[in-house]
Amino acid sequence: MKEERIAIQVDDLTVAYNYKPVLWDIDLKIPEGVMMAIVGPNGAGKSTLIKAMLDIVKPIAGNVQVFGKPYHKQRKLVAYVPQKGSVDWDFPTTAIDVVLMGTYGTLGWIKRPGLKEKKAALEALEKVDMLSFKDRQISQLSGGQQQRVFLARALVQNASIYIMDEPFQGVDATTEIAIVNILKELRKDGKTLVVVHHDLQTVPEYFDWVTFLNVEKIATGPIKDIFNDDNLTKTYGINYKVAIR
Ligand code: ADP
Repeated sequence: MKEERIAIQVDDLTVAYNYKPVLWDIDLKIPEGVMMAIVGPNGAGKSTLIKAMLDIVKPIAGNVQVFGKPYHKQRKLVAYVPQKGSVDWDFPTTAIDVVLMGTYGTLGWIKRPGLKEKKAALEALEKVDMLSFKDRQISQLSGGQQQRVFLARALVQNASIYIMDEPFQGVDATTEIAIVNILKELRKDGKTLVVVHHDLQTVPEYFDWVTFLNVEKIATGPIKDIFNDDNLTKTYGINYKVAIR
C-alpha cells in the first residue's frame, strides 16, 4: 500500500492577538490529496489557522510543517487565495497582470515573466473562463470574476497545496460550480486543498475531509466519519438542524 504523506502538520499551535488566544493548542494532520473544509462559527479562528499555516501570523506556541519542513522552505509548493475582502481591488492592475504575479515565485528576483509565463497565465484565465477579460482592470470586474482571476493566479503557481479563504463568498451559483469543478480537478491531480467554508449544506458534496474549529479543534477527519450532529453541535453550540438553516 502506498504510504500516506502528510501535506500539512500542525503541532500544539496557539495563536493570540493582544494576549487573547484565538487558537488554542491545535494539532492537525492533513493527508496529501484530500479536499478539506475548515468550518466553524464567525471568529472561530479559521482565517487565523490558515494564516498561521502560511507564516502570515506568528504563533505564541507550536509550529506548522509543510511536507515535513517549515513553510519558508516549502513556499513554492503552496498557493494561497486570500479572502476577497482582504484585497485592495482598486489597485490599478489588469486581470492578466494579477495572474502573472502567480509566476513570480518561480522566477526569482529581477527576472520578468516571459513568453512561457504569459502562456501559462492565458491558459489559467481560459480555465476559469476569464480569457476575454484579460486586459480589464480588476476594479472593473464583478466579485465572482475577481475570485476567478485569483483562482487563476493560484493555478499558474502549479503548487501541491492550495489554501483558500472562503472562495465562494459573494459569487453566483454558476461561478461557485465552476470553482468547485476546478478544485475537484486539482484533487484528481493529487493536490491537497484546504478551504475555509461556511455553507454547511454543501460541505459533504464538495469536500471529502473536514476540520471543525472553534478556537480549539473539535474534530478532524473524513466527512463520512465525522460530519455529524454531535460535532456540529459541539462546534456551533446549537442544534445541527438550526446551524444548517
Ligand atoms: P474566522 O475566520 O473563524 O471568522 P478569524 O481567524 O478571522 O476567525 O478571527 C479569530 C478571532 O481573532 C476573532 O475574534 C477576531 O476578531 C480576532 N482577530 C482576527 N484578526 C485579528 C487581528 N489582526 N488583530 C486582533 N484580533 C484579530
